[in-house]
Amino acid sequence: MASSCLIPAHFIVFFIVSRLMSIIGKSRRSNDSLTSEIDSFGVRAKLRYDLEATGLSSSDYGNIVQEIPSAVLFPTSIDDIIELIKFSNKCPVPFNVAARGHGHSTRGQATAHNGVVVNMLSLKKHYKNGSGIKVSTSGNYADVGGEQLWIDVLNATLQHGLAPVSWTDYLYLTVGGTLSNAGISGQTFLYGPQISNILEMDVITGKGDFMTCSRGKNSELFYAVLGGLGQFGIITRARILLAKAPKRVKWVRMLYSDFSIFTRDQEHLISIKGLEYLEGSVMMDYTPANNWRSSFFSPAHESQISSLLKKHGILYCLDMVKYYDDEIVNSVDKEVEMLQDRLNYIPGFAFMKDQTYADFLNRVRRGEITLKSKGLWDVPHPWLNLFVPKSCIMDFNAGVFVGIIHRQKITTGPLLIYPTTRIKWDDRMSAVIPDEDIFYCVGLLRSGSFNDWQDLDNQNNEILEFCDRAGIKMKQYLPHYKSKEEWMKHFGSKWNTFQERKAQFDPRMILSPGQRIFNAV
Ligand code: FAD
Repeated sequence: MASSCLIPAHFIVFFIVSRLMSIIGKSRRSNDSLTSEIDSFGVRAKLRYDLEATGLSSSDYGNIVQEIPSAVLFPTSIDDIIELIKFSNKCPVPFNVAARGHGHSTRGQATAHNGVVVNMLSLKKHYKNGSGIKVSTSGNYADVGGEQLWIDVLNATLQHGLAPVSWTDYLYLTVGGTLSNAGISGQTFLYGPQISNILEMDVITGKGDFMTCSRGKNSELFYAVLGGLGQFGIITRARILLAKAPKRVKWVRMLYSDFSIFTRDQEHLISIKGLEYLEGSVMMDYTPANNWRSSFFSPAHESQISSLLKKHGILYCLDMVKYYDDEIVNSVDKEVEMLQDRLNYIPGFAFMKDQTYADFLNRVRRGEITLKSKGLWDVPHPWLNLFVPKSCIMDFNAGVFVGIIHRQKITTGPLLIYPTTRIKWDDRMSAVIPDEDIFYCVGLLRSGSFNDWQDLDNQNNEILEFCDRAGIKMKQYLPHYKSKEEWMKHFGSKWNTFQERKAQFDPRMILSPGQRIFNAV
């Protein structure tokens, strides 16, 4: 009982009025039954108002935004979520609803100020024996709950010798959470983002309608939801394309001091056949060669690289990966060598790892565990993720990596940069990318402290202003904006469609208010 004292008074009134409206509404139905009342009561019993529940759902991995919801729904079935959204729609003033996957957004995107957060992971507990992930008997897809973590998808599909083809670098993210953005990693150039590898979905729209959608059925909803920033519906099932899983990988990291040679080699590698993963990163002389996300180098190599860094100030790392299994175990080294032969990295600065496919995909987890043990995981993360057109990447390097980040020497955390291809994206989906055929994924994955994160965010703003001034037509990935004008600019020619889809699937603008698109100031 004590916990109900924590509910703001206006919300108690709002909930009582809403509840009455709901009951009145139901009593008008011809077959108003006890069952529907029990259903409704069921949802109420799954709502928590206490500070423990609302507090945990008020922030995210970013630790920058805090928006306290009025309640958190811990659903035990999809019907609970439908009930909640329908309930909100019946209210004279609907309350907001935000699905929260694993809360790994960085700007409060999964929060719902004064609304209800749906704790999607709660669904996971109610499936027995991992039945939230079902691999089809034909073996070319898996039906996966939107609340499932990608690590669990990997483990479940590997048991059948299969796996999805497109990944994120880190696997403790939910399927619904990454499909709301795009889901990118070093495989994107070859297979497209995760949203390009979805065959079908079940979605609860902002009206509370449960709909199955695909390219051929309810396609408008299908395209809206993929990359749709949670604005049109809550994904409860995604049918994910699978392929035969390789057993092991050869992972090669090569160092460059010249950015133009580095990007030329990256672009060459994504234009040929032969490898399955390509990424890259930037190293600065004021940070160690290894970072929390990747401890690739041995101590001996680290000191070698430190000397090189002292000489050049900035180095660029190219990461390429070749998958292999028993069939090519004898030829894989030769194939990797042949790929390397065409590259122009600094002689002597190529490093190789050979590991299982599963360990490679789950490579960021080790860093997470180490950071958690040092209390450095739950710190502010003012990340900035950009898609930069190929034609501007030299200007971007000069202006941002050299001119801002290296000069100011305040950034800590991985700086990722790798090219990918537009052709693997479907423009009918809501995700936004630059117009050019090749564009670079840039991730400034900064960790700050509660005292200094603002300095890093000021640097983000400086970078965005630089891009504006230099005419670099980049797009933000995992975007966050403050005004409607900025959102309109972000979506460009897709804005009208985005708005129309919102009117169609979430006309009362209930879903994912933390994105601040339709409720921007
Ligand atoms: P949440 O933060 O919980 O939610 C994100 C948004 O999606 C919210 O608006 C929420 O309302 C909505 N949402 C959540 N579940 C659903 C659902 N079922 N249906 C509809 N909407 C829903 N991204 C990449 O693409 N590639 C990477 O390599 C990558 N690496 C990362 C590494 C780390 C350490 C972190 C913290 C993030 C990384 N991300 C990466 C970003 C990540 O993909 C997004 O932040 C993603 O949204 C996080 O998933 P989540 O389950 O935590 O979503």
